[in-house]
Amino acid sequence: MKLAVASGKGGTGKTFVATSLALCAGRRVQFLDCDVEEPNGHIFLEPDLAEPERCIVTIPKVINDKCTFCGKCRDICRFNAIILFAETIMVFPELCHSCLGCFLVCPDDALARTEREIGIVESGRAGSIEFVHGRLRVGEAMAIPLLKAVKKKAKENFLTIMDSPPRNLVSICNNSFRRRLCFPGHGTDPVWSL
Ligand code: SF4
Ligand code: SF4
Repeated sequence: MKLAVASGKGGTGKTFVATSLALCAGRRVQFLDCDVEEPNGHIFLEPDLAEPERCIVTIPKVINDKCTFCGKCRDICRFNAIILFAETIMVFPELCHSCLGCFLVCPDDALARTEREIGIVESGRAGSIEFVHGRLRVGEAMAIPLLKAVKKKAKENFLTIMDSPPRNLVSICNNSFRRRLCFPGHGTDPVWSL
């Protein structure tokens, strides 16, 4: 069973509820802290953590000798991560969501793949609880790949309790979880959403 504790707003007590549930749930419990911008489940659970895994995304780099400045990469990029003025083309790695669309449409094989580390995933144990959280690099805007990397750690045949991030990231976090515990708006009364 997978259970997400969710809210559209920070400060409603999700982490407190999620960690309390994990502590009460008995054996074969996994706690995923998906609030990668500000994870604080570890403050409540105090896990012993193993070596971190780096979360790497692929970013395009223009090979100027090959580029014909056709603009196809700029046109497909929904995130405005590529700009083109006449014969000057620039990639803004901080805006790139690593969708790889520009690589697919470039007719001249003029984009090279480079890597960028956006954060780390740390795993460990807090007593009988298996613990995972992500830490986004300071100043990093692109949280989704790291959030997905934490979610991938969910195990079958475990009770997985996920502390969801607030705001717009919450839907990405919860769309594969069938049971959710939601905190609406500023309220503190949880609502089950099945
Ligand atoms: S990988 Fe996707 S988001 Fe990044 S620059 Fe290319 S099209 Fe834009
Ligand atoms: S699609 Fe390829 S050739 Fe066209 S502007 Fe982008 S990098 Fe250059």
